Amino acid sequence: MSQPSRPFSSAASLPHILLIPSAGMGHLVPFVRLATALSIRRITVSILAARPTVSAAESHLLSSLPSSIPIVDFPLAPLDPSYFPPSSDPFYLHYEALRRSAHLLPPLLSVTGTSFSALIIDVSITSTFLPVASAANIPCFLLFTSSASMFALYSSIPSLSLSSAEFNIAGVLKIPNSSLPPPLRDPTNLFTTQLVDNSRALPLSQGILINTFPALETEVLTAFNSGHIVPGFPPVIAVGPLPPLGNLAEKQPPGASQAMRWLDQQPERSVMYVSFGSRTALPTDQIRELGAGLEMSGCRFLWVVKSTKVDREETGEIEELVGKGYSGRVEGRGLVVREWVEQVAVLGHRAVAGFLSHCGWNSVMEAAAAGVTVLAWPRTADQRVNAALVARRGVGVWPEHWVWEADEGVVAAEEIGNKVREVMRNQRMRETAAKLVAEATVEQDGSSDASKAMLSWPSLSRLLN
Ligand code: UDP
Ligand code: UDP
Repeated sequence: MSQPSRPFSSAASLPHILLIPSAGMGHLVPFVRLATALSIRRITVSILAARPTVSAAESHLLSSLPSSIPIVDFPLAPLDPSYFPPSSDPFYLHYEALRRSAHLLPPLLSVTGTSFSALIIDVSITSTFLPVASAANIPCFLLFTSSASMFALYSSIPSLSLSSAEFNIAGVLKIPNSSLPPPLRDPTNLFTTQLVDNSRALPLSQGILINTFPALETEVLTAFNSGHIVPGFPPVIAVGPLPPLGNLAEKQPPGASQAMRWLDQQPERSVMYVSFGSRTALPTDQIRELGAGLEMSGCRFLWVVKSTKVDREETGEIEELVGKGYSGRVEGRGLVVREWVEQVAVLGHRAVAGFLSHCGWNSVMEAAAAGVTVLAWPRTADQRVNAALVARRGVGVWPEHWVWEADEGVVAAEEIGNKVREVMRNQRMRETAAKLVAEATVEQDGSSDASKAMLSWPSLSRLLN
């Protein structure tokens, strides 16, 4: 049985919460941000780490955590690979391994000798971890790492017919069938079986925390907390925007400084930042069209190119992806990188005005907090639901016919170029984005937002009765 890799530093009197993320930076980043937010509110925190991680990015972030966020190492029960199709998504397989290791948690906790006041777990492990926490008499909250809109869909799954043309959720949200995460079309897909099981177990938790803020998703949050989405549901608490990690990561990633140096040389509000997050690859023919589209747009751009789902598998030269001579042709006006960039710093840079994004939820929240407008190009999972919200709030454009990962075909260069120009020139959208920043900032300060005040132990513990 493994010991915690770093000693706990908490005074015995402080409440101590164990956070349990699942796999991928889109999950780990908000968990680390939540841990930071809790620790500055006099709550001792630890993070459970199921290693080896799928991506190098997760491993890097875990190894960069400050001593105020100690790690509890969690050895996973091995998965039988013959049980899963070879094409299974490595991140979903990691969720599955974690889900199937829930029974190992109580013996591990007894070895740590720490009496945890509560757990905060990733929603993707709900159905196996909630019963274990309940048997061990430890209160358990959930952190949902996407939007409240997506959570409305997620929590309604048991009562929906997935073949409906449109899902009308409590009259506050209409989601067309075409926006359903594509794996849900296959009832045997690992994503589907996990989601259906988790969704049924949600009401057993003490409360659900979401990295959103009321001004962004007012109607959905109100509908949840008045019992209109799922009757008798636990409290749904908006805790966003969670504070960025800032200087938390002690080691700077190699790509970070090149991108920032290049941005320093660009005029104010002139650059479109292009990134599909930490785990979305584009096929080579689409990469070529995107490159040509950015070139045609005439706009300045910083493009993080990505051709594999898992960062450890990214090899070879950039020119093999974007085409020989591309970087030279766009030099001065466009920079293509293939490494991790510090996205929050990029979005906050004075030169950046637009974000061509897949609409992973952390990216959407980071754009909202930075007042950057979005050209939405969702590719899979929750991304169309998030893209629709961005367009509805007037802070981005979503060309709904653009293909997603599971579709045939590519979006043509000319169309991409036109949309990039359209977003970069849209002054009205910039003003709306600036107003949203003001609302997000107020809520980050906690001055106007009652739900943000929930991130304290007295408030959380009141939910436990
Ligand atoms: N991210 C980053 N640099 C990169 C790629 C991603 O800092 O080069 C961060 C991004 O800021 C966000 C997270 O990784 O916090 C990705 O989460 P998101 O929900 O946007 O998308 P996912 O990667 O889960 O699809
Ligand atoms: N990386 C990351 N996020 C970060 C820093 C680094 O995803 O905040 C990635 C980086 O792009 C590389 C890997 O983590 O793929 C290892 O980074 P680095 O070389 O700095 O760490 P080391 O290998 O020395 O531990």
